[in-house]
Amino acid sequence: MLTAQVLSRHLDTVTVLERDVLPDGPRQRRGQPQARHGHILWSSGARVVDGLLPGTIDRLLAAGARRIMFQRDLVTLTSHGWQHRFPSRQFCLMCSRPLMDWTVRDQVVSAGRVRVRQRAEAVELSGGGDRVTGVRVRDVETGAESALAADLVVDATGRGSRLRHWLAALGLPPVEEDVVDAGMAYCSRLYKAPPGATTAFPPVNISPDPRDGRPGRFGVVHPQEGGVWMVTLAGTRGARLPSDDAEFTEYARSLRDPLVADLIASAEPLTPLFVSHFGANRRLYPERLERWPEGLLVIGDALAAFNPIYGHGMSSAALGAAALDELLGGPRPWSAAAAQRAAGAAADDPWIIAAARDIEYVGCRTTATDPRLLGEAETRRHFADVLTTRSLRSPAVSALVTDAASLSVPQSALGSSEFMALMARDEPLPELTGPPLAAAELAAAGLRPRDAVGADG
Ligand SMILES: Cc1cc2nc3c(=O)[nH]c(=O)nc-3n(C[C@H](O)[C@H](O)[C@H](O)COP(=O)(O)OP(=O)(O)OC[C@H]3O[C@@H](n4cnc5c(N)ncnc54)[C@H](O)[C@@H]3O)c2cc1C
Repeated sequence: MLTAQVLSRHLDTVTVLERDVLPDGPRQRRGQPQARHGHILWSSGARVVDGLLPGTIDRLLAAGARRIMFQRDLVTLTSHGWQHRFPSRQFCLMCSRPLMDWTVRDQVVSAGRVRVRQRAEAVELSGGGDRVTGVRVRDVETGAESALAADLVVDATGRGSRLRHWLAALGLPPVEEDVVDAGMAYCSRLYKAPPGATTAFPPVNISPDPRDGRPGRFGVVHPQEGGVWMVTLAGTRGARLPSDDAEFTEYARSLRDPLVADLIASAEPLTPLFVSHFGANRRLYPERLERWPEGLLVIGDALAAFNPIYGHGMSSAALGAAALDELLGGPRPWSAAAAQRAAGAAADDPWIIAAARDIEYVGCRTTATDPRLLGEAETRRHFADVLTTRSLRSPAVSALVTDAASLSVPQSALGSSEFMALMARDEPLPELTGPPLAAAELAAAGLRPRDAVGADG
């Protein structure tokens, strides 16, 4: 929808083909199974969304979304220890994915420049290897097929994209693909939060430490609109996700800290368990093909999909849309190959963040050509160790690491000489020995204080 909004600023007619029925409100739908799991929108993506569709953030907040300032408003156990709750420039929006999508879609559709055809499935590309001239569309209700001509076709069909087959049918050579698959899977369920706890208790993230050589187990509790907690338990290959209530509680208890288990112990479950196995990092490299057809662009998860634990998919798609906006607003003529390069560049940081971390998990399956993932593993690990350890306890280091983690500055900022000087100067605070929770927060969730650990928040 964001890309459709961008295109409507530069082109005459924009038609979105959607296989699904789109609900007229913030409700789940078949074509987006991932919406049953927690979604955060990082500040980089939120700024793009609000720039393209002014007022979206306010609408989301009015509907119950929360604006969480990193690291001040969160409680996080990283691989290297507990994170101090420093203030920073970055935030994320937390709400259900259906609310996020509906709010964006409603703004785009009400503006009246984008037409949405529901129950319309794109089945193949028309044209040839030099130029794509449209798509064949199947009416999902009747099965009837028809041709839709277009100057530009954008594949935004998500992780299940059939682009590689479609390109082969046009006679183009295979697009190279990198996969880094730590076997990540997710199990989520909604709970009724204790009264007031969705606003008075911080989101919680508990991560594993891949250095221990065991499958990674994660747990998060994220507040959403309507006074509910989205509780997600996740694991890398071999972590054995829960399949019933008892295993859910047991798994939460097995994390590196019992906070998630303590929170759900007396909370009321509202839904069954939903499981997703879409956790692999996968990236296409259309920009490496010697020729790319005019009139075709691939974006979003169809181009590059990441392990969702880093929360980058929607922001990456938004940044891709922003890059396209810039290109289309620049000098003409522009080529599809240039647009594809811009989309690939926008996906590069979230790709390398996720792929470089996931490759460290035991049992990770990798077929990658990205030179940054090959060789020099020790140097990469050492840098990641130093960075994570320092950002837990140093406010200035944490601020810049959060800028990069939120995709608000390029990853390369973390290798700059200014950053190295900052690392040398910044005085770290003492290490935290437990979750940094204030007395009022503990009370809001009905938890008893553990040994005093002190909260900066
Ligand atoms: C468990 C999980 C948790 C996640 N958490 C986060 C998070 O916290 N933060 C974040 O930013 N991202 C998160 N993501 C990633 C995020 O969901 C995706 O990055 C994002 O939805 C990608 O958007 P998209 O438009 O490219 O694809 P999608 O959202 O998948 O949309 C694709 C659309 O295309 C339609 N479609 C498919 N094929 C066709 C066809 N042939 N013809 C017509 N229509 C078609 C589908 O019905 C669907 O509506 C998570 C993903 C998962 C799996």
